[in-house]
Amino acid sequence: MAKTRTKATKRRSARKPVAAKGRRYVYSFGGGGADGRAEMKELLGGKGANLAEMARMRLPVPPGFTISTEVCTYYYANGRRYPAVLRAQVETALKKVEKALGKTFGDPENPLLVSVRSGARASMPGMMDTILNLGLNDRTVQGLIRHTGNERFAYDSYRRFVQMYGDVVLDLKPRTKTEEDPFEVALHEKKRARGVTLDTDLTADDLRELVQEFKALIKMRKGVLFPEDPHEQLWGAIGAVFGSWNNERAIIYRKLNDIPESWGTAVNVQSMVFGNMGGDSGTGVAFTRDPASGENVFYGEYLMNAQGEDVVAGIRTPLPIAQLGKENPKIHGQLMQVRRTLERHYRDVMDVEFTIQQGTLYMLQCRVGKRTAVAAAKIAVDMVHEKLIAPKTALLRVDPERLNELLRPVFDLSAKRDAGARMLAKGLNAGPGAASGKIAFHAEDAEEMAKRGDRVILVRNETSPEDIRGMAAAEGILTARGGMTSHAALVGRQMGKVCVVGCGALLINYERGEMRIDGRSEVLRQGDPISIDGFTGEVFSGEIPTRPSEIVQVLVDKTLEPSKAPVYKIYAQLMKWADQVRRLGIRANADLPEQCEHAVAFGAEGVGLTRTEHMFFGEGKIEPMREMILAETTEERRRALAKLLPLQRADFEGIFRVLAGRPVTIRLIDPPLHEFLPHDAEGQAQIAADMHVPVERVRNRVEQLHEFNPMLGFRGCRLGIIYPEITEMQARAIFEAASNVKREGIPVEPEVMIPLVGHVKELKLQADIVRRVAAEVLKETGAKFRYLVGTMIEVPRGALTADAIAAEADFFSFGTNDLTQTTLGVSRDDAGRFLTPYVDLEIYSRDPFESIDQDGVGALMRTAVERGRKAKPALKLGICGEHGGDPASVRFCDTVGLSYVSCSPFRVPIARLAAAQARLTR
Ligand code: PEP
Ligand code: MG
Repeated sequence: MAKTRTKATKRRSARKPVAAKGRRYVYSFGGGGADGRAEMKELLGGKGANLAEMARMRLPVPPGFTISTEVCTYYYANGRRYPAVLRAQVETALKKVEKALGKTFGDPENPLLVSVRSGARASMPGMMDTILNLGLNDRTVQGLIRHTGNERFAYDSYRRFVQMYGDVVLDLKPRTKTEEDPFEVALHEKKRARGVTLDTDLTADDLRELVQEFKALIKMRKGVLFPEDPHEQLWGAIGAVFGSWNNERAIIYRKLNDIPESWGTAVNVQSMVFGNMGGDSGTGVAFTRDPASGENVFYGEYLMNAQGEDVVAGIRTPLPIAQLGKENPKIHGQLMQVRRTLERHYRDVMDVEFTIQQGTLYMLQCRVGKRTAVAAAKIAVDMVHEKLIAPKTALLRVDPERLNELLRPVFDLSAKRDAGARMLAKGLNAGPGAASGKIAFHAEDAEEMAKRGDRVILVRNETSPEDIRGMAAAEGILTARGGMTSHAALVGRQMGKVCVVGCGALLINYERGEMRIDGRSEVLRQGDPISIDGFTGEVFSGEIPTRPSEIVQVLVDKTLEPSKAPVYKIYAQLMKWADQVRRLGIRANADLPEQCEHAVAFGAEGVGLTRTEHMFFGEGKIEPMREMILAETTEERRRALAKLLPLQRADFEGIFRVLAGRPVTIRLIDPPLHEFLPHDAEGQAQIAADMHVPVERVRNRVEQLHEFNPMLGFRGCRLGIIYPEITEMQARAIFEAASNVKREGIPVEPEVMIPLVGHVKELKLQADIVRRVAAEVLKETGAKFRYLVGTMIEVPRGALTADAIAAEADFFSFGTNDLTQTTLGVSRDDAGRFLTPYVDLEIYSRDPFESIDQDGVGALMRTAVERGRKAKPALKLGICGEHGGDPASVRFCDTVGLSYVSCSPFRVPIARLAAAQARLTR
């Protein structure tokens, strides 16, 4: 651990920022203009930059200022101190706000109150801290009362402020899942003493007492006095917000979303407007289009007489925005105008927060709206049709990784109908997809259960940012409270989880670890199976089988007409655009005809890797394979190979038929032979009996084949070099199969690939056999077709001597699984134990077996590409390691000039889109 700290400190001090004289750290907005603009997200964070942009657009933004992210970086690099010039700049900006509003901070007559909020470059919903109503104390609260004529409101604001300040700045929040918030306990106690149930039933006197009780709590628990000086309050809050950049949940969120620590957060100080000033006040959040389905409707929720946090936190279930049209058509009309203005300006779906203070509308935030993958695709395609964006922009609006969500399973309709009687309740359909799993009531339990291999549905009254890890581990999220924009809905959607929220009928008892449904006697306990439908919001007890997504039904199962599949149509349009833009070819790794069918259905233009050894595990094949391995003479081996030949040939025929002339790369046998043999006495006895040989012979041979390090042992081309008859048999199976299929009138394009080549002589020995057998078979059958012989580049020596190797190869395919293993000296089978901590320590920014280590493995790839192409300009270059389906790696492959990437069939759409994006972002 000590080591880690030294490293981290070193890293920081290397880029220790210094405060430059005259440098600007504070940017004002509102009151008729702004210092910043939308493009300044790096400096002002998303919230600050967009507040500035809205102010420039003359939308009604309460004035305020943003302290830049540079201050955050400075703060952490300099022992939590600020640049010396900051204080003066904050004072000046505060004066500007005071001037715009005609109020003064700390003025006991008419006090200016502010909110202090975080705002990073990328939105991190609820992960950092916020303080509202700052500037209140025993004196200024009197001014607020006089000015608003509403004593209850003033004390309610004060009560909320002391509570938030206590929680956030003075660190009085609950620490464990069972500990209760002391302020909430006091509030509850007050309501009990007054015999009321709702917060709104408490009187001004009750609230005034609560303020004093809260302050006493702070004194007792923390040994400090609540600060009465508004300036002290302000700096305390600014420090707490910068401090919250490094709280645990923010760190976890950054990891999950690849947000670098170095970005830092900005702090936004903004004049308060109040949605809780009575029946003509309110607050809400809205999306300019439906973020779940992508439908072009204004989508939002609001609560009258409430503060913003009430909506976001999901404590009260808000009303749909359409209702506001009936209740207050004027404000609703203004909001619709804001919606139009924002969409035309940003040309994207925006997510806004607004407050109505005594009949006047204020915009408190806008940002590009988070959406489900389905919505992202639909909105992108719709906006092209509406001429708001170009197809290229549409392609960049969909995260390739999240295309997965469009391919997601849904419940089998008939099974769901049958499960009708098991329907428990209905909530809001916040995140699409179908999920079944065991109930977990706490995020920690969800994490543990998932670690044990269970599929889990996290069931909560509401989720909070603390639950982030449990949410990540769960298949689906179900909450009793909150709306479509509650924390659970926002974060769940972003994580691509199946999500149902606001399911009011759930009565959860955390202490007993059980839940009931309102009006029913049935009890569900932690671990019981449950199913949720994120498309409809329905909740069922028990498991329900799922069926494939619309796209899979159209493309793979062919059970649905494209014209009846709206999601498929959107997908198809996006893919069409992607294919027009991308340069990289897309192939799939597939070993069986059925997998090849899926691959072609998803748009693969060929097979980039068929692992022939996978076929040997099939029915009736493992026996002759074992016979071949156990053979002690060439003769015996040839006899066994003769049995394997027709089996392999039939497999290859199946693949060639499906691919119908598209190239098929077939790799000769690669893994260590012992993988095919049984290592237990029982299995060995069985084989000996099958082969009519003594069991000792089997045992001896297994022992002979034992290797200390099989991945670096007798595998790959080494097998065919020592036993050329294996290569002969495989080559013959490939070319006979191709000839037979060609004879059926189906074109073929075989590419034979030699694995694990490090030395050109290895390749030459093997390629000579393949070419000789090809010539023999073509002569025998009279068939004519083009074929290639190439190699995998998957050991460093192969990459470094690529020029020599290219002389003997028609193509290279980078086997980045082995190349990563051999370059890093890290076993691909044993790395799990330390690679996760390695990524946590940022030794590697991502797991190098998932995303190409561009500096190391990538450097070897570049070398191989350069040397290979120099020796043979027409050399075809591909990748068939798992990285071929990782968007960042696809981009890298495009950059280094590969001809194609090859990945698993279900990742083909992801690779197509990633390849298009790679071109568009070059
Ligand atoms: C590779 O090493 O990247 C590869 C594709 O081969 P395998 O995973 O079969 O070793
Ligand atoms: Mg390999």
